[in-house]
Amino acid sequence: MPTPPKKRGRSKEEKRSGARKKSSPSIVGKEFNYVLQLTEADTRLLKRYQDVLAQGAAGFAETSYNYLFDNPDIADVMYAYERDGGNIGELVRGMLKHKLSLLKGDTGEKATSHSEQIGRAHFRLGVKPVWTLGAYRLFMDHLQKLVATDPQIAEQDRDALEAALIKMILRDQGVMTEAYWRAAVEQLKDQRDELGVEQNLAGEILSHIPQLLWTVDIESNRITYASPGTRDFCSGELDAPIPCFYHVHGAERERVLTAWQQVIDGQSVQLEVRLAPDDSTERWFRMAFYPAANRRGRVLRVHCLMEDITDMHSERERLEQLSTQDEVTGLANRTLWYDRLALALAVARRNPGAAVAVMVLDINQFKMYNDSLGHEAGDELLRQVAQRLQKVVRDTDTLARLGGDEFGIVLPLLQDAERAVERVASEVMNALSAPFTYRQRELCLSSAIGISLYPQHGDEAGTLASHADSAMYRAKWNAAPYLFYESEAAVSSASEHLKFSGQLHGALEREEFELYYQPKIDLDSGRICGAEALLRWQHPQQGLVLPGHFIPVAEQLGMISPITDWVLDTALEQSKHWPVDGSPMPISINVSARSFQSPGLVARIKQSLQKAGLEGNCLEVEITEGTLMTDLDAGAGILQKLSELGVSIAIDDFGTGYSSLSYLKRLPIDVLKIDQSFLENMAGNPRDAAIVLSIIELGHNLDCKVIAEGVEDEAVRLRLKEMGCDFVQGFHISRPLPDASFREWLSRA
Ligand code: C2E
Ligand code: MG
Ligand code: MG
Repeated sequence: MPTPPKKRGRSKEEKRSGARKKSSPSIVGKEFNYVLQLTEADTRLLKRYQDVLAQGAAGFAETSYNYLFDNPDIADVMYAYERDGGNIGELVRGMLKHKLSLLKGDTGEKATSHSEQIGRAHFRLGVKPVWTLGAYRLFMDHLQKLVATDPQIAEQDRDALEAALIKMILRDQGVMTEAYWRAAVEQLKDQRDELGVEQNLAGEILSHIPQLLWTVDIESNRITYASPGTRDFCSGELDAPIPCFYHVHGAERERVLTAWQQVIDGQSVQLEVRLAPDDSTERWFRMAFYPAANRRGRVLRVHCLMEDITDMHSERERLEQLSTQDEVTGLANRTLWYDRLALALAVARRNPGAAVAVMVLDINQFKMYNDSLGHEAGDELLRQVAQRLQKVVRDTDTLARLGGDEFGIVLPLLQDAERAVERVASEVMNALSAPFTYRQRELCLSSAIGISLYPQHGDEAGTLASHADSAMYRAKWNAAPYLFYESEAAVSSASEHLKFSGQLHGALEREEFELYYQPKIDLDSGRICGAEALLRWQHPQQGLVLPGHFIPVAEQLGMISPITDWVLDTALEQSKHWPVDGSPMPISINVSARSFQSPGLVARIKQSLQKAGLEGNCLEVEITEGTLMTDLDAGAGILQKLSELGVSIAIDDFGTGYSSLSYLKRLPIDVLKIDQSFLENMAGNPRDAAIVLSIIELGHNLDCKVIAEGVEDEAVRLRLKEMGCDFVQGFHISRPLPDASFREWLSRA
């Protein structure tokens, strides 16, 4: 068989595979001699007939050549050898030369080592030992013929010569095969060493990386590999079909099982799951399953890479929340609220008869507190409001902070929507009615709520939100706790609010306010018994603005108290100069709910009276029933103090509110003012006349004087006189007049 081509240097493979290990060959050489009983006599005999046996080598060369190429497997190896740059002619010549060298009977070290190199070369080139056997058989055939027939060989030597040849050939064959297998074993050893180094390296890497790696054999349902990290993490739970499975959060196990089925079916799957390793806190892991299948696609093993992604997961959640959550209150923000509204509408559209209510809620006093106490207080208030509102809404509702002091609620799928939403609105009012605390201070808040309903007021989220918004403005404007959307009214009040709110700031400083006065007449004597101060605003563009248009705005903006102070000072100061003889004529001022409740009202009144040099009996304070009823106990205390100062107290617009008569009895009230709405219809409506009469009687029973306001003609004046009313006020006597005109009117009267 082929010898290695001589001129080619040692190949890379040769260098790696241990062909270089030259120390071993001669060791086996002697053993072969012993085993085969190859003796000196054999060598001598072979040497003697060497030339005779070398005859016919050319013929044998051709036989060998045919043998190589008749066998397709051997031919393939030959062609590969040629492709690699080898020369087949040279190879066959080398093979022949080696065979002929055996005829010398040389069993020396050099010859043995040469045979061994051929064996190693065969291994390298992929020449199978069995093929060599064939080549030797042909050689032996050729030699046997010569030995049996050549006349140059002595008859008595023939058997011994044949035996010697057989031994030589067997020896060469043995040495080559031994070398062949040694090369194979050495290569395997080298590969195993390399694999060992690689495995150690892989083990080192795997024990240092945070990822967990394991492999499960699907046939046997056994874990074939678990990285050191996996073993630590699973602590003894490695025998489950899916390692670490029992650390997976209960709610996530179904997903893991589904993924497992998919990977067994041949797909790579990734999923993120919550794991709770050994009582410690929950962690998020990404599990990536990879199938390892055979050529027919059957999955034999599943590899899994697990990675702790808790930090990434929390960060992602934080970012998600930021985009949908209000940072101050932790509620949903406008974006999420809007989304939920759209969703609720989509559901409602599919459910005939279903409704959705949209509530927009504005905190009335928020701006004032935020401006005066600072943003920290403002934020704290918003948080407290949010907490209280949260208790009012159900899980299916969406409460959100829409921005500033505005909150929004979406109430989906309401049956009997109007009533249900009214109930929620009053629960909201209740929830906000108790004072809030900030740094031991008690702060009172109220809200204005605007409501729009699907389907009555619109069917798009945008429309409903803006309708709820305008209803909220109208509620604010009308000092109503909540209002439903109404088309035109909402538009005008909101725009009016916007028109005035900016310019009201600074109107005091710019001296744009003015007081008008309207006289009150004693029906018995016909004499002037007092005057009411009524505020006017000389608006630079709008001209004269009546109080009904700007007082509610001033209240909302928290600007009413300085205005009340100004009215008080101005009215007392101007009234001093009126031409009235005898006893001083009391001046009435209107005090709104917010001013009445603000601490220090009594002190300011006292101070103002002192400044004007007037006694308490020169002043009357008009408050409405509503003002009194918001906090009866506090109200009663204030009235008591005012009464002690000698200031007279009148209940304005009496009959329009809900006074508790039993309370009225206990309060130091001096005057009831019958609301003008009762006078308007008194002539045509006996019920209104009855109410007027009842109020007059009630007032007298309570020891109060009764005045009717809004008296526009003589008939009403006479009727009131008949009914026993004490005083009247109205256009019939005089319209409210500016100070100078009122002074003139007084002197004429
Ligand atoms: P009010 O205290 O009930 O004042 C009576 C209102 O009736 C005044 O309207 C007056 O001009 C009007 N009036 C008087 N006689 C007649 C009449 O014969 N016929 C008709 N149709 N109306 C008559 P005004 O001045 O527009 O004031 C409206 C409301 O604004 C007042 O109702 C009062 O609640 C409030 N207001 C006025 N000035 C002040 C103020 O200085 N401070 C506060 N907080 N509120 C004020
Ligand atoms: Mg009044
Ligand atoms: Mg009134």
